[in-house]
Amino acid sequence: MAPQARRTRGANDDGYASTDRAALAATALEVTRRLVALYGEPAWSAEGPLGVLIGTILSQRTRDAQTGAAYAALKRRFPSWETMRDAPLAEVQKAIANVNWPELKAPRLQQIARQVTAERGALNLDFLCDLPAEDALAWLLKLTGVGPKTAACTLLFACRKPVLPVDVHVHRVSIRLGLIAPKVTEEAAHDLLQALLPPDARIVYDYHNSLLLHGQRVCVGGRPRCDRCALTSLCAYYRANVEDQAKSETVEHGTC
Ligand code: SF4
Repeated sequence: MAPQARRTRGANDDGYASTDRAALAATALEVTRRLVALYGEPAWSAEGPLGVLIGTILSQRTRDAQTGAAYAALKRRFPSWETMRDAPLAEVQKAIANVNWPELKAPRLQQIARQVTAERGALNLDFLCDLPAEDALAWLLKLTGVGPKTAACTLLFACRKPVLPVDVHVHRVSIRLGLIAPKVTEEAAHDLLQALLPPDARIVYDYHNSLLLHGQRVCVGGRPRCDRCALTSLCAYYRANVEDQAKSETVEHGTC
């Protein structure tokens, strides 16, 4: 198995919801197992790391269908990433006009393409797949506008390295399950959750994908749909907000 990538730790080194790490790790694995049984295993990307990086930047705060359409439009409009890099900014912006904030994403794509070219002498990120995960992550995080989630998506989806991306859904569901403490930020959650998973890219991808889908469909923002959830027996939120409340209502009624 590939070594597990580590990022520099921030202020939330102790951000777990319990001191029993072994139990948290077992819960994370069981959550993954149950959700994969529901939603299936995601397919690996056929794109290389540069294509995945570009697609991930397009996808920020944008629905999957719009992201896919913008990515296809870019590839239609520009026969190579080099021609996209060197094109007038307005042309790139026009090609991705259907995503949110094309006026920010178009210059970011071109800036990253220029940075990669300047650093490597060519516009190609395939070398990242041959680096240890930790080194590849550090390299990507030096690029302008590339944060932990974007870097992790690139390395996991394209290089199959066990680096966990944490988006708003993975973050929310992981907190409700009681794997990490409520105050842990999305950024700090990357390290903490990844450390609960084995350094196995398949399991890391399954955890990411299944919690993302569960957060979109069941454990949604606002009021979660616990009545249709397969994770109630594993969930701290359910124990505190549904089971315990039901018990206290029973006691109250019993004393009337
Ligand atoms: S039981 Fe409720 S809070 Fe817990 S994961 Fe399921 S939907 Fe979310």
